[in-house]
Amino acid sequence: MTTATLLLAVMLALGLIACAAAFRSPRAPGKHAFILAVVCALWWTAMVLLRFGATSLPDKVMFSELAWFGIVGAPMFWAAGILSYSGFRRLGTLQALVAIACYSALAGLAALTNDRHHALYTGIVNVQRPTFSHGWLFHILLTVTYVFMIWACVTAASRLQLSQAIHRRQLLGLVAAMLLPWVANFAFVFFEFRIFNDDPTPFAFSLTSLAMLMMQEHGKLFVAPPIARDVIFNVLPDPVIVVDGDARVLEANPAAWTLPGLAEGSVGTILPPGHPLRAWLDRDNHAAAPLLTIGETQTTYEVSVQRLEKWGRDGSIMVVLRDVTAREAAQQQLAAASRDLVVRLNENLALQKKLVEEAARDHLTGLYNRRHASKIIPDCIDTHGPAQPLAFALIDLDHFKQVNDRFGHDAGDNVLIAFAEILRNRMPPEGCAFRFGGEEFLIAIPGISETEMLSLTQTWRCLLAEEGARLTPGFQLTFSCGVAVFPRDGQSLGDCSKAADVALYEAKVAGRNRDVVWRDKSSHLHIAS
Ligand code: GH3
Ligand code: MG
Ligand code: MG
Repeated sequence: MTTATLLLAVMLALGLIACAAAFRSPRAPGKHAFILAVVCALWWTAMVLLRFGATSLPDKVMFSELAWFGIVGAPMFWAAGILSYSGFRRLGTLQALVAIACYSALAGLAALTNDRHHALYTGIVNVQRPTFSHGWLFHILLTVTYVFMIWACVTAASRLQLSQAIHRRQLLGLVAAMLLPWVANFAFVFFEFRIFNDDPTPFAFSLTSLAMLMMQEHGKLFVAPPIARDVIFNVLPDPVIVVDGDARVLEANPAAWTLPGLAEGSVGTILPPGHPLRAWLDRDNHAAAPLLTIGETQTTYEVSVQRLEKWGRDGSIMVVLRDVTAREAAQQQLAAASRDLVVRLNENLALQKKLVEEAARDHLTGLYNRRHASKIIPDCIDTHGPAQPLAFALIDLDHFKQVNDRFGHDAGDNVLIAFAEILRNRMPPEGCAFRFGGEEFLIAIPGISETEMLSLTQTWRCLLAEEGARLTPGFQLTFSCGVAVFPRDGQSLGDCSKAADVALYEAKVAGRNRDVVWRDKSSHLHIAS
């Protein structure tokens, strides 16, 4: 008996230390309920100690009855602590704790007044300890306590599955600390199991104080409570909605209440078929088009969908919406800017091309100019080499000054335009005409002989004469022409145009309106009209 007294005294001290440590620790779910559970266990233990010290039966009966203030309170507060820790925060509120305290106090009062009603104890079975036979109230109190503890155990077990790391260890420790006295009490009530010839429950309950101390020390109980997840859900700026297979809202955080058609009271209701989120969820391939625009608020969300099978909710999904309105607007602006840039770039390229083209052309006739000739003809000669002959004709309109003088400068322009048109229309596909000077034209045609060139100049001459009847009535339009052929008459454009120029000069000297072919530095008159 002395050992038992000593043991209970040590446990009493441990309980006090545990209470003090818990009291000083930060605010956490279930903390006050756990402290009250230990206080009740201490009271119970103290009463058992006092009963050990009592000698008379009435005193022993009195301490046994007084213990009931703790007998009911200890498991009830402990279960309330576990439930509060597991998420049933209401069981940790002041009202809930006061209710349990009142319930325990009533049980204690019922025990103290047992002599009058005998509802708790119907009689004394063993006067030594003493041991009682139990009445209906005993069974009711026992049943209520057991139901409460079973609820706590089942809740904690289901939470174990979802919790991780330190929170899982804390939960395991709390459940283990509750199960030990429960098992001890069960063994005592139903199998008469005893320690020191007495109820083992207060011993076991006192051990929970030790367990709580260890959990505070090693498991950071109360220091790292599992409250962050709930807080995250509530303060998250992104709307989070959990819906089941029928689009019923199972959960929604405060950020989701701001969405059109959703409110705090939406939990439990089905999203209407016209709701934009419902329409989005009804689509097939969510991952391919993760954007949802809610027209009412002009807001665009990036939606991510998480299936909740793993968490035991078949067919339910968690939808997280991230407001990407600003990002999308910026992207659209960027896309528009880059489209604009491409348009401008193309405009610039077209302008550049036009400028290059214009720089190569003569404004009046539209033919290529001399600069372009000096660019492409050498390229052509370099590409094909001497194997490919290139016939040149240098044409100068005869007495053109007189055209200007007699018919005006505009008429002169029209003659130049008309002649350019003749050259363009009657030119082999591979040939090209250049306006070489004022009324001077260079024609270059690859792969033809001088004879073929002379045949062409004859055609152009006839056509020019026809134009003359229309543009310069009473004045016959003619031209003189010098012909040279690459590589026979020169190795370059410079050589050939010089040769053609000499031949042209000879044509002028010989009386104009004729073609002269350069040959071996001595020109021969070939065709005279
Ligand atoms: P020739 O038979 O010796 O070639 O006599 P010509 O009068 O044709 O030769 P000349 O070199 O004396 O005169 C050329 C004239 O061509 C002078 C110039 O005013 C005229 N001319 C040059 N370019 C243009 C032009 O673009 N438009 C007009 N209307 N006349 C031009
Ligand atoms: Mg001239
Ligand atoms: Mg002339």
